[in-house]
Amino acid sequence: MISVEDYLARVVALAHPLPAEEVAVGGGSGQVLAEDLPARFAVPPFDNSAMDGFAVRAADLAEGVRLSVVGDVPAGAASAPTVGAGECVRIMTGAPMPEGADSVVPVEQTDQPMGDAPLPAEVEVREVVAEGRHVRRRGEDVAVGDVVLAAGTRWGPETTGAASSIGYATVPLRRRPRVAVLATGDELVAPGTELGFGQIPDSNSYLLAGLVQRFGGEVSLRRAVGDDPEEFRAALDEALAADVVVTTGGVSVGAFEVVRQVTEGDIDFVKVNMQPGKPQASGKLRAPDGRDVAFLGLPGNPVSAWVSAWMFLRPLLAAFAGVPSDLARNERDRIEGRLHPDSILLPVGQTWRKSSNRRQYIPVRLIDGGIAPSHALGSGSHLIASLHLADGLAVVPAELDGPGETVEVLLTR
Ligand code: AMP
Ligand code: MG
Repeated sequence: MISVEDYLARVVALAHPLPAEEVAVGGGSGQVLAEDLPARFAVPPFDNSAMDGFAVRAADLAEGVRLSVVGDVPAGAASAPTVGAGECVRIMTGAPMPEGADSVVPVEQTDQPMGDAPLPAEVEVREVVAEGRHVRRRGEDVAVGDVVLAAGTRWGPETTGAASSIGYATVPLRRRPRVAVLATGDELVAPGTELGFGQIPDSNSYLLAGLVQRFGGEVSLRRAVGDDPEEFRAALDEALAADVVVTTGGVSVGAFEVVRQVTEGDIDFVKVNMQPGKPQASGKLRAPDGRDVAFLGLPGNPVSAWVSAWMFLRPLLAAFAGVPSDLARNERDRIEGRLHPDSILLPVGQTWRKSSNRRQYIPVRLIDGGIAPSHALGSGSHLIASLHLADGLAVVPAELDGPGETVEVLLTR
């Protein structure tokens, strides 16, 4: 039996960072930035008004003073008049500060109406502002050259917004790992098919394909195959066009373990100290074109496959994407309480039957500030139909005392 941490380290070592491609700034959701992005523009790029109002010289201000209005600067104005002594310019939020002005008096602090009004000849200032007030300074958020987005950042709407604001039309993102998903089992039939004796619908291949996408990968193939070695071998040859092949089923110690039969010798079969998810397989297979392809053989029980995917497939795909594997902690990190960044500590609200002395990985719901198993039967690894209720994956030490104890929960929504 090997520890989860040791096994994870082996799995992550199968990856190599994938090459980067230039992607239009609005695309690439879930891909990972390959290089640091320094700001090409300052943010904001020029001094501008934070309010709708009048751009003034603070030295002119006194309660009740009347200033002559020498022009209008809407956002996007191509130019702005210069503001001299006793003068001001009507200005809108985001518009560039005119030469000579140093502060903005919001329209609410003048005698002028808010909204769509004609440009007045004069304005009365009713409430004075301090010098520099309501002006956003060039570069106050970001200076040119500041690294705003660091290599390893996962791409999404917020990073897209940031990259656009600092001058990027395209960004270097690592290409998504291509993942082939093969479910194995003679008992499997396509979803929706009437079930014959001993048959079950294949749920794993769909579950896994969805998780691959959620983890930032691209599904290159999804298929259920039987337990016939020839059939599995043929599917595997096709699957090896991917960067990663992930299988479910056929890795334990039964009589017809097809994954084991076909890949043993090339792939390591291990027992990992976890429940569910004890039987695991991993290693590299040689593709027909000579590339090494990472192989992950997950157990067949759907909950075991789900837990294993979160624990091993996700960090493997992250490593292909060039994200340092923060899940690959050692036992000391665990003892010193260093958490995975996506994990939180929560109290066990409701206890459950512990069925083994291995560390448990249990799908849980967040309830009243604590957690409870998402299925009444706790950790049963065949409970696929309640998996969708889970908010997270609780890591329950073998020596859990009972309700109230705090455990680590990896959020999975
Ligand atoms: P195995 O690891 O192949 O021994 O499978 C363990 C259990 O998981 C058995 O009860 C299988 O019927 C079930 N199982 C295996 N593969 C799938 C699948 N693709 N979808 C749903 N259940 C599966
Ligand atoms: Mg099987």
